[in-house]
Amino acid sequence: ATPSEEKDLVIIGGGVAGYVAAIKAGQEGLKACQKRGALGGTCLNVGCIPSKSLLNNSHLYHQILHDTKNRGIDVGDVKLNLENMMKAKETSVNGLTKGIEFLFKKNNVEYIKGTAAFADEHTVAVNLVDGGETSVRGKNIIIATGSEATPFPGLTIDEEKVITSTGAIALKKVPKKMVVIGGGIIGLEMGSVWSRLGAEVTVVEFLGQIGGPGMDAEVSKNIQKTLGKQGMKFMLNTKVLKGDDSAEIVKLDVEAAKGGKQQTLEADVVLVAIGRRPYTSGLGLDNIGLETDNKGRLVIDSEYRTKLPHIRVIGDCTFGPMLAHKAEEEGVAVIEFLTKNYGHVNYNAIPSVMYTHPEVAWVGQNEAELKEAGVKYKSGSFPFSANSRAKTNQDADGFVKFLADAETDRILGVHIVGPNAGEMIAEGTLALEYGASTEDIGRTSHAHPTLAEAFKEAAMATYGKAIHY
Ligand code: NAD
Repeated sequence: ATPSEEKDLVIIGGGVAGYVAAIKAGQEGLKACQKRGALGGTCLNVGCIPSKSLLNNSHLYHQILHDTKNRGIDVGDVKLNLENMMKAKETSVNGLTKGIEFLFKKNNVEYIKGTAAFADEHTVAVNLVDGGETSVRGKNIIIATGSEATPFPGLTIDEEKVITSTGAIALKKVPKKMVVIGGGIIGLEMGSVWSRLGAEVTVVEFLGQIGGPGMDAEVSKNIQKTLGKQGMKFMLNTKVLKGDDSAEIVKLDVEAAKGGKQQTLEADVVLVAIGRRPYTSGLGLDNIGLETDNKGRLVIDSEYRTKLPHIRVIGDCTFGPMLAHKAEEEGVAVIEFLTKNYGHVNYNAIPSVMYTHPEVAWVGQNEAELKEAGVKYKSGSFPFSANSRAKTNQDADGFVKFLADAETDRILGVHIVGPNAGEMIAEGTLALEYGASTEDIGRTSHAHPTLAEAFKEAAMATYGKAIHY
């Protein structure tokens, strides 16, 4: 293969980090070129988007089954058509993937479909999806190869019986018994989907709380109670010792995390959701002398540069939370560093959302983190059961909680468990970004009747008193 002319920029990876960087590069007039298979990466193809389709539609199904009589709606024979539910998911994914291809064309991004590996510091060799090879030279190169599910030692992922999130969005029938290893975001979101569709779901979590790192303990307890009422079972402080997937029924030996009684769980499907790890294998990092840290992350400086300054890294394969919107911010910032020498991502104001029902969302620090840092803080909260809109919607589980500096009232963290928490957290993120105080929020008019009034009243409860509680 003969290398074509040198490009301003070659981006390896068409996930959220890579495709956003490519579009931004095109807008800035760079000649960008992008590689790997389907555009959209994990998020669009097997992550955020398909899971949200299933979360939305499984919630509708569950609601029609269990939550209509009290609303004055009598329904007849309700049946699940899993095949069609999956088709609806695929339609959403396909539409959005094509949208990115369109944006590439619009922004003059050349799209090479294939698997890339470094031949030398400026040359990337590509095994093309449609057969054959090519190579491309880049003055600058961005690595945005993302992450993959961390496997559980001793269990073989076949995406049917032992699954990761990828299998969990594509099961062909509703399992009778599903055991989820890991009570983080993936375990709870995908566990919710299959629980709503009729599976008996047990979540085994090593720590004393669900929700993974970052979720406030009070929020975690609240959502656990609600998910429990919906039928999910939890085994906290429990570790999975080993698994046996040799027969049709998978067996898992579990034990109290601090040692103690052992028992064996049986499941027809086991979801492994114990975290994700950077995906850089096969990239030929050895050929150019780039190393990864003990977690497999590519090491970079504050401008995303590796020790080879023309090679930068963004998204899941480097530091920071493995979140699509964090990767997107970096996709824009990295191009700004390249073209203008400055870029900006505020890592203290990246929101987290768990799309269960109710949703959980937070931004900034939680109580445990503030205590550990020795920060003096005050808190105020407001329950959705006292919010007129949530009550009227008969959807009033959860609360909004603010954490603010005890002296200055500057907002340090916002934690929400409740309906539409994922949308509402945008206001908290903006407040944090602008350095707002809870009084700034409390003195801002919020339309009535909306769920957002709970946000305002929680702020009022932090510097003074709420009106409706
Ligand atoms: P996670 O880190 O959120 O949670 C993993 C959980 O598994 C932790 O609570 C951990 O204590 C537990 N665990 C680890 N090893 C265990 C073991 N041997 N036995 C029992 N429990 C064990 O990871 P995840 O849920 O797999 O998600 C992976 C990544 O993808 C995360 O960074 C997550 O934020 C991201 N993600 C985000 C969203 C979202 O933003 N809505 C959705 C899906 C995934």
